[in-house]
Amino acid sequence: MILKVVKYGDPVLEKEGQLVTEFDGKLNELVENMFETMLAEKGVGLAAPQIGQSLKLFVMDCSGGKEPKDRIAFINPIIQETKDTQVGDEGCLSFPDIYFQVERPRIVTVTAFDVNGKEFTMNLEDLAARCVLHETDHLYGKLFTDFLKKLSFLKRDKIKKKIDKKIKYGEWD
Ligand SMILES: [Zn+2]
Repeated sequence: MILKVVKYGDPVLEKEGQLVTEFDGKLNELVENMFETMLAEKGVGLAAPQIGQSLKLFVMDCSGGKEPKDRIAFINPIIQETKDTQVGDEGCLSFPDIYFQVERPRIVTVTAFDVNGKEFTMNLEDLAARCVLHETDHLYGKLFTDFLKKLSFLKRDKIKKKIDKKIKYGEWD
């Protein structure tokens, strides 16, 4: 089932999610629906608050549905270590058509649980590392627009105006 993606302005996006405690059929269904929604929206990552569920959980697939091994659910993830830096264009399904450069670590070690409640650790690089960091931020109510302050005034002002305009004209929905 394709779920509705919550857009910027909804308070759920700026709230810390609860830890997932029940690894049951309901969780499995939620995760499957999140994968389906992410694929339909052509995203590479989708966090639970983005579909209105204040939980520490996100799904990721940097292959866009092409590689089954890249289809990963991260439940209660914790970033253990980060290395290096990368700068690249970043977007978010909760901010349609808004993209700007964000500097993040290039390598990340993350520990999380799968849908069966089994703990795992992964080392990820480049786009996958960027995605894990962006989605983990969502679980703490942190949005990528926090990184706008690192841009020059002109760039920041242009993006802020674009966001304000979209909200004003109801283009988010
Ligand atoms: Zn996002």
